[in-house]
Amino acid sequence: MSAEAVQNPVNLAARHPERLRITEIFHSIQGEADAVGWPTVFVRLTGCPLRCVWCDTTYSFHGGQWRTIDEIVAEVARHGARHVCVTGGEPLSQKRCLILLQRLCDAGHEVSLETSGALDVSAVDPRVRKVVDLKAPASGELKRNRWSNIDHLRPHDQVKFVLADRADYEWARAVTAEHRLSDRCQVLFSPVHASLKPRELAEWILADHLPVRMQLQLHKLLWGDEPGH
Ligand code: SF4
Repeated sequence: MSAEAVQNPVNLAARHPERLRITEIFHSIQGEADAVGWPTVFVRLTGCPLRCVWCDTTYSFHGGQWRTIDEIVAEVARHGARHVCVTGGEPLSQKRCLILLQRLCDAGHEVSLETSGALDVSAVDPRVRKVVDLKAPASGELKRNRWSNIDHLRPHDQVKFVLADRADYEWARAVTAEHRLSDRCQVLFSPVHASLKPRELAEWILADHLPVRMQLQLHKLLWGDEPGH
């Protein structure tokens, strides 16, 4: 701690309000998960410790701007949407994300959190709808799955599998059964864009009578890969 902080810790704290590194804040249509279709404000935090081979938000790995949590909450409010999605990158790689989530809930928003499933979700505000990935083999990040997160899923949460091929599908089918995921929360299966044909995935799900919800990314149909949507 600096000499200044020792002498006057209260003033120093007042001049260093809690901040997060932010890649973008924008208003769009939620393209996936339970809130699909709702006008939503997205808060994209910078940084991710994973490197999924099919990642479509690599621009969020670096850069960004430091913003105070007060500024972020105020900017979200200016967009006038009830739904807010905190995403990344991996938003939980910045510890103060937990404070932001709490503040957004306190402000009366319906808040969702998109997380890689690699970091601990146990301290996330229970009002937040967590969308927790489980990384399938073709992502290249299978070993990063934090299986203890399954114990912290609530009925309003969702587990999301992004699937690149038949081997991924069979893995996800086995994991869903082994952990009885459909009894805990919604289970979402999505095809990797331009890698697995949506119709093929639909037919596999139907043939196996899986209790899962298939998803296509609505924002990709509307805007392609343009950042800011
Ligand atoms: S966890 Fe998400 S942001 Fe990070 S590399 Fe994987 S897909 Fe990209």
